[in-house]
Amino acid sequence: MRRITKRVYGLLALVIGFACGLTALAGSLAAHGAKWAGSRANAHVFSNGQLVSAGGIYDRNGVALAASAGGERILPESKTTRMATLHAVGDPQGFISAGVQSVFRAKLIGWSAWNGMYPLVRYGRGSDVLLNLDAELCATAYKALNGHKGTVAVMDYRTGELLCMVSAPSFDPLHKPENMEGDEKYDAIYMNRFLHGLFTPGSVFKIVTAAAAIENIPDIHTQVFTCTGKYATGEGYVICSGTHGKIHFEQAMNNSCNAAFAAIAEQLGEQKLRAMAEQLGFSRQYAIDGIPLSPSRFSGGGMNVLELGWAGIGQHTTLANPAHFLMLMSAVANGGEGAVPRLVAGIRSPGGFVAAYGRKESGVRLSAATARQLVELLRSNVQNKYDSDGSEDAMQLCGKTGTAEVNGKKPHAWFAGFSANPQTPYSIVIVAENGGSGQGVAYDIAAKVMRAVCG
Ligand SMILES: [Zn+2]
Repeated sequence: MRRITKRVYGLLALVIGFACGLTALAGSLAAHGAKWAGSRANAHVFSNGQLVSAGGIYDRNGVALAASAGGERILPESKTTRMATLHAVGDPQGFISAGVQSVFRAKLIGWSAWNGMYPLVRYGRGSDVLLNLDAELCATAYKALNGHKGTVAVMDYRTGELLCMVSAPSFDPLHKPENMEGDEKYDAIYMNRFLHGLFTPGSVFKIVTAAAAIENIPDIHTQVFTCTGKYATGEGYVICSGTHGKIHFEQAMNNSCNAAFAAIAEQLGEQKLRAMAEQLGFSRQYAIDGIPLSPSRFSGGGMNVLELGWAGIGQHTTLANPAHFLMLMSAVANGGEGAVPRLVAGIRSPGGFVAAYGRKESGVRLSAATARQLVELLRSNVQNKYDSDGSEDAMQLCGKTGTAEVNGKKPHAWFAGFSANPQTPYSIVIVAENGGSGQGVAYDIAAKVMRAVCG
């Protein structure tokens, strides 16, 4: 009898052990299944470490940006399209971690916690990812960057649909260059500069300073500023790029006068300027389709009056993320109600069923009255300064250029703006890294891309 009891206990211990093991396995499968299924050792999906048998990635017009056929990954025929969409789609080896092929890998290979690898076994592939991007517009933007490092992005500011997202430098995934490491030409090649770049904003930051002035300085529109080519703060000078004489707020914005904006920053004080920067999304963590952006950073606390002057014109230690700046422009364009950009439109199951992906999310917000005044100022910039022949009148292009000084190199050229014509509700951001002048370089790129999208 004693022996039997012993055996029963022994058996019970075995059963409990087995049950625990099974639970641990199920838990582990739920937690890590997507990773295991998506492992490059999985021969159903990968060949030589490359994704070969998976769902496709399509642009808004149904153009395949990556698709699987016959055990191979097929990419667009045009080299420019392959290079222009590389950072959005991701590279075959997965070095571009923010690319759709990495972020949406579980969907593309057809793994789900519920069905495991069933879709892959049944259909030979997973779901398709349908993007809001327009591949042709991306190619136009990539060409317009003309060899500059940087980024160009365009969104529909009413819906949040991201129509264009280009990051450079890029490479052709079919002919990947060797020895990119350490070559300055391929600096931070795997980074998507739109999502994760942080750049000194220079004068595009004057939009933030202007918003703070509109809300905190009641007589801002009637004040007269004097620019002698520099502004004395008492701690040193903020240098202007011109000698603008006596000017009003609007003219200060048109001429991007550093002296006037340093004076405005001083009137505001650090606290009010910081409060507006934070209201407009500085230091905030946004994400696009689950991909976290690098948050923009306003200059460090406790600035002296000279540092505050430089901060007011987007210098000092302020850094801006291009995706965040596009969100900021979208909020201004859309009456104060900004949306978060949306890269992915839908997921198409192997059976052909399309499910919409994500939903419209609220982004940067500001008061409708402030947004309206900013639209007028930004439209006046284009009319009076950037667009000499009225080519952008039909789209009512609004915006601000920036020429951001960086240590020891050519400045970054920025443009942030939008079309105020309700028929073409598109906002745009450009950064040409060490590209030179905002008005000379970035505005030309913006005009080309906006003409392509607005028609
Ligand atoms: Zn000036």
